[in-house]
Amino acid sequence: MIKTKCFFCKKSYTIDYSDSQYQKIKANPKAYYVCKKCNESMQREAQSTTGLDMDVIDKYDKFLR
Ligand SMILES: [Zn+2]
Repeated sequence: MIKTKCFFCKKSYTIDYSDSQYQKIKANPKAYYVCKKCNESMQREAQSTTGLDMDVIDKYDKFLR
């Protein structure tokens, strides 16, 4: 078990081997831990960012034609 802090919400978490980031934190205690809640909101943000990128690509595509 390792005590760590979420990089985004600064809440303390105790993680064990069942956490996907356990090996990373164990190997490097200074590595950033992102809790599941923040991970989910980050993924949602990434999805909306990807949507935006698609728009930009679309505009470039039209411009190039
Ligand atoms: Zn968090």
